[in-house]
Amino acid sequence: MNKNVDEYPVIWLQGAGCTGCSVSVLNSVSPTIKNVLIDEVIPGKHVNLRFHPTIMAGAGELAIEVLRDTQEHRKGEYILIVEGAVPTAEDGVYAVVGEEDGKPVTLLSRVLSLGANAMAVIALGTCAAFGGIPSGSPNPTGCRGVMDTFETHNISTPVINIPGCPPHPDWFVGTVASILIGGLPEPEELDEFGRPKLFFGSLIHENCPRRAYYDERKFAKKLGEPGCLYDLGCKGSVTYADCPLRLWNGGVNWCIGNNSPCIGCCEPGFPDVVSPFYAKMEEYLPQGGEK
Ligand code: SF4
Ligand code: SF4
Repeated sequence: MNKNVDEYPVIWLQGAGCTGCSVSVLNSVSPTIKNVLIDEVIPGKHVNLRFHPTIMAGAGELAIEVLRDTQEHRKGEYILIVEGAVPTAEDGVYAVVGEEDGKPVTLLSRVLSLGANAMAVIALGTCAAFGGIPSGSPNPTGCRGVMDTFETHNISTPVINIPGCPPHPDWFVGTVASILIGGLPEPEELDEFGRPKLFFGSLIHENCPRRAYYDERKFAKKLGEPGCLYDLGCKGSVTYADCPLRLWNGGVNWCIGNNSPCIGCCEPGFPDVVSPFYAKMEEYLPQGGEK
């Protein structure tokens, strides 16, 4: 590595989740994931992904030693990325990351110790941000989001929430790039749930191409029909994300563009508060308006 390039160590932990967030980010189109992980993300700044359970080459004690080394020697310099919720019931026994002295170490313990010493934490995906699907009722494993977990343990490391089930790769890459360029976001750049307003600043409903149907009260009664998808369960009127403008899969399409209602995957309380996905909301009418 060129000595004139600043290197930012990154530790990526996975908890209660499906690894879909990793899959989504690994499919980043522009920049490619190779650009993100191997090249300079921006001139003079390079991300050094030191630990990632799915894609790292190391394993066993060798890999765990990287966690110890980063926590000890790069204190306050590294970014911790958490994917998946944090199981907290029974002292977090439902998820472990390696061993210390021959005993399993819980994800809860790793998140707390690595998190307390990190420059910042990115809670990637709705599970890490808000608990997501693993925290759905009745939540026997006590799954919680990172911010919530930190609050109960008095850890004040900044947490940036990038929800989504999965999150869009641009939301992740854009957030990392903005940290490398200008440092951590100012409080006013995040919404009340710790999400960057750059990506989560407006309702799906505000930018939806079917909005004219909604305003004219033309509602689809079956999937595949033209019309607003409100009666088919669309949660776009209570969901903040830029999907209608950004589109998915390299700009090919997005949920509503493919005739599927928005299921509110970026919102706190997902999936319980937006369930059933394909049932019309009665209690969550759009702000300031009657349907
Ligand atoms: S309710 Fe859904 S489909 Fe209808 S305009 Fe709003 S976001 Fe679009
Ligand atoms: S349109 Fe809604 S359900 Fe689809 S990815 Fe965006 S926020 Fe999630």
